[in-house]
Amino acid sequence: MSAFDELYRCVHCGFCLPTCPTYLATGLEGNSPRGRLHLMRAVVEGRARAEGKLLEYLDSCVYCLRCETACPSGVKYGTVFEEFFKAYRKGMQSVSYKRYIPLFNAINTRLGLKIVPIAASLPPGLRPLVTGGDISDLVGKIYYAKGNAKGRVALFVSDECVAWRYRRGVVEAAIRVLTWNGYEVVVPRFSCCGAPYRHSGQFEKAEELARRNLKIAEKLSVDAIAVPNSGGCQAELLRYMRDRRVVDVMQLIAHDLRGNLGEVKMRLAVQHSCHLMNAAKAHDVVLKPLYKVPGLVLTPLPSADVCCGGGNMYPLRHRDIANAILERKRDEVKAVSPDGVLIESPSCLQQLSKLGLRVYFPVEVLDLAYQKGENSGYMELRGDTL
Ligand code: SF4
Ligand code: SF4
Repeated sequence: MSAFDELYRCVHCGFCLPTCPTYLATGLEGNSPRGRLHLMRAVVEGRARAEGKLLEYLDSCVYCLRCETACPSGVKYGTVFEEFFKAYRKGMQSVSYKRYIPLFNAINTRLGLKIVPIAASLPPGLRPLVTGGDISDLVGKIYYAKGNAKGRVALFVSDECVAWRYRRGVVEAAIRVLTWNGYEVVVPRFSCCGAPYRHSGQFEKAEELARRNLKIAEKLSVDAIAVPNSGGCQAELLRYMRDRRVVDVMQLIAHDLRGNLGEVKMRLAVQHSCHLMNAAKAHDVVLKPLYKVPGLVLTPLPSADVCCGGGNMYPLRHRDIANAILERKRDEVKAVSPDGVLIESPSCLQQLSKLGLRVYFPVEVLDLAYQKGENSGYMELRGDTL
């Protein structure tokens, strides 16, 4: 059976249309899941060529996979889209996207921390990615459980990846929250999960990164691989770490929180991570511990389950559509008038930080509640070299 058989399962009902961010932003059939399936079918059947406007419609998909969850026929849009990338990859690779990959590599390997002082000269969409504090010294270490140990986990972060390297606040919060809740945390030197490469059609590179991470994971004696709030990484790891339990940090502790949670008086608007919701199916449980935080009010945006247009460096690739998607979010956020926005993946950061509000990750907020809960010894963060 070919992945392209999926194309024939679409009955053109249109139930997927209201879930698609690019269709909602443009109103164009070519920018909808149904339209894209139709275009791919035309190419596969030899009635059209993968070029020009047709290619533009396909390339403007954010790859959020929300359409899959709405489809009554169970069309596996992601599978057929990826196979299409593979079969017609020369034409499908996004030129603008590829242009940015070397820049990210330069940020991480050659320039390293030196990029931070010149962050102001980067395109605005990239600045939030490099201003969160370097994590290099947190990697390659083991952090011991406090109190009775519940288990041992490996934290999935990578100081080779621009999404993680400067997310120090989130990574520290994840280690503190996990060790406080009885988990021994090892932080190996993982590579990028591979998702940015796979989503841009660079399948060999994505496979190479997967092999590298699997090799590291093979040597680990842990109960789970824990991802600190990144739906994109978690979904990608679930694809190839099939014999491992891959969970979000909050998922791991959701049902059995230790210690006192202090008051965090804030109202946060919630935007879900597409891949946490549509692929890992864990967006509800990730928020669960936060509903126990006194004073904290979480208000999901009316379109919280529709992509913010930030994934896959989308704002750099399709600025007009990304801006149109963002304007809808801006109106919804205004109506809620929150103190900040809660996101579940670094992919949303570059887009939603443009709203002018502080952006929080769930584990950061839980960490704050623990700090305010007067838990003696909570803030200590000591790691030994692995
Ligand atoms: S993956 Fe997302 S952007 Fe692409 S067609 Fe489906 S809903 Fe639309
Ligand atoms: S919901 Fe499914 S069957 Fe209906 S148009 Fe969309 S992809 Fe086709």
